[in-house]
Amino acid sequence: SELTKAEGSDNELAFESALRPKSLGEFIGQSKVRNQLKLILDAAAIQNRTPDHILLAGPPGLGKTTLAMIVAHEGGQPLRLTSGPTIQHAGDLAAVLSSLAPGEVLFIDEIHRMARSAEEMLYLAMEDYRVDVMVGKGPGATSIPLEIAPFTLVGATTRSGMLPSPLRDRFGFIAHLEFYENQELQQVINRAAKKLGLEIDETAQQEIARRSRGTPRIANRLLRRVRDFALVGGKTKIGVDEAMGALKLYEVDDLGLDRLDREIMKVLVERFSGKPVGLSTLAVAVGEEQDTIEAVVEPFLVRMGLIARTARGRQATAAGFAHLGQTPPTNLLD
Ligand code: ADP
Repeated sequence: SELTKAEGSDNELAFESALRPKSLGEFIGQSKVRNQLKLILDAAAIQNRTPDHILLAGPPGLGKTTLAMIVAHEGGQPLRLTSGPTIQHAGDLAAVLSSLAPGEVLFIDEIHRMARSAEEMLYLAMEDYRVDVMVGKGPGATSIPLEIAPFTLVGATTRSGMLPSPLRDRFGFIAHLEFYENQELQQVINRAAKKLGLEIDETAQQEIARRSRGTPRIANRLLRRVRDFALVGGKTKIGVDEAMGALKLYEVDDLGLDRLDREIMKVLVERFSGKPVGLSTLAVAVGEEQDTIEAVVEPFLVRMGLIARTARGRQATAAGFAHLGQTPPTNLLD
């Protein structure tokens, strides 16, 4: 059937790369960022130079890696992928920079987690296409400037606030990616379904979109589970029953909150009864890193109006209480 022949390989990475839009025109949503990027790329093409360095900021799964690939693809340039945590020493970065081909696009994911010494090397590389390589040790040590090929850096971060300003200032453009609207997520699902050869009706698409946490990666992942559900149930067409069945099985709630989102809501509503809670307390209560809570969980819960960030901490709103089926205390701020 259509559903069984849909995919050869079923691992997450193969699946993601098969679904990645290859051009700005194919990229759904984020219209402001798309237009801004287009101007940078078009101007560079007219002047026959490498595009300015670009920083992409926003929660995971919103399309940062995809956009980096598009920048390279639209400019007809190769792409080099690396990430902050793998750059532990300036030497690691020097090795990457000195091996770039002219015009190459260098993508550094989680750029806020790069070593400090590498950060300083990157300033010079971004500005002058040059690195200073240290030769020797002690009093006799000298630094030798080494020219590198002109390149475009595309940095990605979930925490733009964590980047030192000298680094931030060296990007020609900083794009803040926003969570997607449901109608845009429905387009993401529709596009993925077509690519996978799935037949899925519009209500099923809407139900999945509504529970995708504003995130294309999650939309694609849920679509895959719904596809499984239909496949195992012997259905060739995906309708709302298959969508709801799979979503229920995987405990995706009405607003698309995941396990960690719900744990945080429970702590704020049940344990602290709507009183403000500090980030470190919250992190300990759910056994998760503060970073993850701040960059991944909170932005979505705030956007849904379920929690509020106040000067005294994080607290559940009346809508947050309602989502857990609880009555808010009468003195709750909102
Ligand atoms: P990030 O780097 O921000 O974590 P990715 O670029 O890896 O996110 O995107 C995750 C997945 O979501 C990819 O498989 C990609 O196909 C899909 N995706 C992201 N943004 C879009 C978009 N605007 N349109 C269609 N698919 C998208």
